Amino acid sequence: MGKHNGQSAHAGENPAPAAKAAMNEDSRAITKGEPQAARDARENRHKYFMNIALAVRLRANCKGNRVGALIVLDNRIISTGYNGTPENMVNCLDGGCYRCANRDKSYKSGEAYDLCICVHAEQNAILAAARFGISTAGSTMYTTMRPCFGCAKEMLQAQVRSVYYLHEWNPSAKDDVLKTAAQTAEYEKLMIRFPGGVHRLDVPDADVDWAVSRKMPATISLDRHGTVDI
Ligand SMILES: [Zn+2]
Ligand SMILES: [Zn+2]
Repeated sequence: MGKHNGQSAHAGENPAPAAKAAMNEDSRAITKGEPQAARDARENRHKYFMNIALAVRLRANCKGNRVGALIVLDNRIISTGYNGTPENMVNCLDGGCYRCANRDKSYKSGEAYDLCICVHAEQNAILAAARFGISTAGSTMYTTMRPCFGCAKEMLQAQVRSVYYLHEWNPSAKDDVLKTAAQTAEYEKLMIRFPGGVHRLDVPDADVDWAVSRKMPATISLDRHGTVDI
């Protein structure tokens, strides 16, 4: 992969020092004034896609965590999603979801998903692909939060191959240690089934306080594919 935008010397030639200096001058000229973000976007495709997922997240409409997700196949975005109530229903921020409206009193983060009518970002991305007849088999999911229990199993059934996430999420059953342990074990069973692994990305997030209601430590053990920071 050339970094000189096609301006490099002909293959096999060994340019003289002066020519070399001129080339360096050229490459500086090409990148002069280029935003750092643009350079990052070209140098690391994972960060490029995660930054797009962060932009998708801006439309999230939920009183809980705000999440953005996108599905990529062959380095092309085939679907996007953010979390909120189903279409044509009252938005979560307008009180449309009973569970989310009572999340501070009765239902903590990660609890009572069976009562929650908000559709998660990853689910919405998969469902938009389904609606438009786009296969998600072999795809990569970029999501601004580690997929929850439900999203993880649905992604496996949609044959999402790899996952890249930004913020931590982990299974928890309030103060019930045994239940939390069982949930964690089952969750890990799902995590190790992604052939391309589940990876955390380190991308700056200026809106983390708005988007993430509770900062979670990483408690999920490394999967056998090697969950890695990139
Ligand atoms: Zn909600
Ligand atoms: Zn989810």
